Amino acid sequence: MIKVDNVSKSFGENAVLKNISTTIKQGEVVAVIGPSGSGKSTFLRCLNLLEQPTAGDICINETMITSSKVNKLEIRKNIGMVFQHFHLFPHMTVLDNVTYAPKKVKNMKKTEADEIGKSLIAKVGLTDKETAYPNRLSGGQKQRVAIARALAMEPNIMLFDEPTSALDPEMVKEVLDVMKDLADSGMTMVIVTHEMNFAKEVADRVLFLDNGMLVEEGKPESFFAKPQTVRAQNFLEKIL
Ligand code: ADP
Ligand code: MG
Repeated sequence: MIKVDNVSKSFGENAVLKNISTTIKQGEVVAVIGPSGSGKSTFLRCLNLLEQPTAGDICINETMITSSKVNKLEIRKNIGMVFQHFHLFPHMTVLDNVTYAPKKVKNMKKTEADEIGKSLIAKVGLTDKETAYPNRLSGGQKQRVAIARALAMEPNIMLFDEPTSALDPEMVKEVLDVMKDLADSGMTMVIVTHEMNFAKEVADRVLFLDNGMLVEEGKPESFFAKPQTVRAQNFLEKIL
């Protein structure tokens, strides 16, 4: 579904991604881990063209998205993204946050968007918050709204960039539970995370980035039990 072929990205002199190649299958859940500054966010942002790779190609569902001819907005319609800091619209209710993009981008009628929006809000367990504004929600609730909002565009890929890193510890589980349900439903997911237990339990594969390179990838069982590279060993020793 996603083919990343020799992708590099530099900001000026700073080579942030170096010849990354990997393939992600439909329905696969991939956890991206690695030290701070290793290029995890940049990698994720290249997948939905928030960053344009300096070299290499990315193919999604047979479309070469790194071609200069593609319409970035069309590509992004099919790729949901959830950020560390939620980025909800503060002046809109929960329901309006969730229904805004389908109405605006897909020209969906309000009645239809509301129906889909309400079912997604129910799915993330926030039916009683439909008319609340974001400043009345906890961090965990905000992030669940952000997930519902991304799903409202009916994407076939969901990207998560440290979705629980800004949350108080007691709110992490409610967000991970929603993500786990999504994974179980067959969604293709790429998740940058420091939640190693979640990666172990939910991911089909782990990508370990260090210094802009894809140093190691493998099934979570083998990666966490027996990392093959010294760099992955050192990283896991520090955090586990
Ligand atoms: P990670 O998510 O693994 O912490 P990032 O992808 O955010 O790493 O950053 C990798 C490197 O790229 C860092 O050195 C960072 O300063 C640099 N970087 C990221 N985004 C930009 C940008 N928009 N402009 C310049 N440098 C950037
Ligand atoms: Mg990051």
